[in-house]
Amino acid sequence: MKKIIVLFICSVVVFGPIAEPANAQNRKLPRAGFPVLASPNNGNPSSSNDSGASSPWPNSLPSSYGMHLSPGLDRNRNAPIEHYNPGEPEQNMALVRWEKKSMPLLIWISPGYKLPDIPLSELKKTRVDFVTNLLQNADSFAGITPAPGWTPAINDQVAAGIEQWRQFENEGLFNFAFTDDPHNAHICVFFTDVFRDGNAPGGIAIGGNTCAQMYPISLAHSMNIHQKPVIIELSTLVNNTPQKMIGASAHEFGHALGIKAHSPYRSDLMYEDRVVDSLSEADKATIRWLYHQQPAFVL
Ligand SMILES: [Zn+2]
Repeated sequence: MKKIIVLFICSVVVFGPIAEPANAQNRKLPRAGFPVLASPNNGNPSSSNDSGASSPWPNSLPSSYGMHLSPGLDRNRNAPIEHYNPGEPEQNMALVRWEKKSMPLLIWISPGYKLPDIPLSELKKTRVDFVTNLLQNADSFAGITPAPGWTPAINDQVAAGIEQWRQFENEGLFNFAFTDDPHNAHICVFFTDVFRDGNAPGGIAIGGNTCAQMYPISLAHSMNIHQKPVIIELSTLVNNTPQKMIGASAHEFGHALGIKAHSPYRSDLMYEDRVVDSLSEADKATIRWLYHQQPAFVL
């Protein structure tokens, strides 16, 4: 299920985040949403600017929402371990990742903060801008409280999930550190008790969600872009054991690193309906492959 936002601001096109199905599977994880800040549009820039003259960032337009379900594949045990395609499905599987100059990636795990409850479909197209705007304020998180079910120990679980990716620092793929200051974070982690959807009376069983904005590499190199943080949100209700929270955190951080498409294989952490809680050899092969390619988009 997907949702696309297209923005025309100062000759810039932005494609919005991707939404995933709201089905009843407990292990259901959404595809990460990555709005795209694309290059100038056909030399025919729109003169409209509904973001307001004072804002350096474009606003979002309405997006669509579609269902996508995967039955999942099992690997032949004798098959060689190969990477799956981590590209962005909405961009013809174009590759997305961070550049070396962004390192170390700074990660801020909030003290349980629950961002305002809005339908999943709305969340996916507004979250990055919402948090970006919050961070402009001196009292950014005034009035924002921890998600029901959050405890300080959960942040240790989130960190443990993220730490599963630490092993690639030795290979020079990327490196990261945790920060206490959200204002300089590349990746911010928030929580919710349960994700909600517009048509659902209660909540929906999605374990986590990741939203980010990505930029064509040529544009990123030619413009001084206001980088927006990647936003991860994790459900305390769905991830109600340490192991589940660790797995969900590791999966979402995989998206935050740029693994956009899900693995079709059930044995991989990045499988859409995650059934494992740690990186598989194929997940490792995929991140290695991705960080040795020239990306079309950067985070
Ligand atoms: Zn996912």
